[in-house]
Amino acid sequence: MPKAFKIAVLPGDGIGPEVTEAALLVLEALQDSMKSVELRFEKAEAGYDCIRKYGTNLPPETLEIIKGSDACLKGPMTTPEEPGSPPSVAVTLRKLFDLYANIRPCKSLPKVPCFKPNIDLIIVRENTEGLYSGKEFEISPGVGVALRVITRRASERVARVAFKLALKRRKKVSFAHKANVLKLTDGIFKEAVMKVAEEYPDVELEELHVDAMAMQLIKRPESFDVILTTNMFGDILSDEAAQTVGGLGLAAGANIGDRFGMFEPVHGSAPKYAGQNKVNPMAMIFAAKMMLDYLGLTEAALKVEKAVLDVLHDGKFLTYDLGGSSTTMEVAKAIAEKIKA
Ligand code: NAD
Repeated sequence: MPKAFKIAVLPGDGIGPEVTEAALLVLEALQDSMKSVELRFEKAEAGYDCIRKYGTNLPPETLEIIKGSDACLKGPMTTPEEPGSPPSVAVTLRKLFDLYANIRPCKSLPKVPCFKPNIDLIIVRENTEGLYSGKEFEISPGVGVALRVITRRASERVARVAFKLALKRRKKVSFAHKANVLKLTDGIFKEAVMKVAEEYPDVELEELHVDAMAMQLIKRPESFDVILTTNMFGDILSDEAAQTVGGLGLAAGANIGDRFGMFEPVHGSAPKYAGQNKVNPMAMIFAAKMMLDYLGLTEAALKVEKAVLDVLHDGKFLTYDLGGSSTTMEVAKAIAEKIKA
């Protein structure tokens, strides 16, 4: 009997429920076609609509379900912007479960217009501190202060994730910081990366200021292997990197700690498209693929990836962002059919 994995599924809001339903359809097809895969899904509420219903975007029942699971598959969620409103669910979960490495792959895909045909990079971003520590104060009317927390410990452990990944790939880490301005905080980050680099003499280390990195990502995206950076810089660079290979509809991310993993698309809840069955489900399906890898279901992960690539290659079922007119569920069904074939 295969090990049954418990998966906490948070559909979220906006386009979240649609892309989650699409990913679950693909995972069900996978279970039907591979007897070695057994996933038990437990859906739980979180996100914008919960604020009105429960006064929080992350109800305690949902937290219990996540705690009892082997991994979490999370849809996008709207985060209100008013001061004093609840923090982003993603940011809260990353901190609560100490998911300190955010891993966002970015690769040229068949027949998808991209900046260069041979882009294959991964952004590894510190996921628990930096400006996303969420510590903000209005020290006098009209004067706000946000704390940018950077620690040696968090910088070193995320750097190790990046170097270990690079060892399995093209053995290059490019790290981005702004230590010329943020001398203390990014000084600590830079020192930590340089120290960890000494443990990996076979990995080439490239150093860039984050503004130069933003430019080089457009100019020579194919030259990057693993990009390592702090929390907010990584968030911004990964949306930029996603566009070099076809946009947010294709970009997924893994939030990994020592004991748990949470998987989600890079994109947000895109409220203007909610309920239209129109957006690209592939980012969410790639997130599910990363979850299968994390659970050690390598063959299953490869099967999902191949099915998506085959659908892209056929070019018959594509959503609007890739120049097609298929619906979210039509694309998901096409991917599920490839899996069953
Ligand atoms: P967004 O990623 O939701 O949307 C930006 C644009 O990207 C969309 O208008 C659309 O053109 C495109 N897009 C996004 N997903 C797509 C898909 N699957 N297929 C095709 N096109 C797609 O970013 P935003 O508008 O800045 O944020 C909307 C809300 O989402 C905000 O409340 C934000 O806080 C939240 N958000 C949540 C997460 C998360 O849950 N992890 C991440 C980012 C943003």
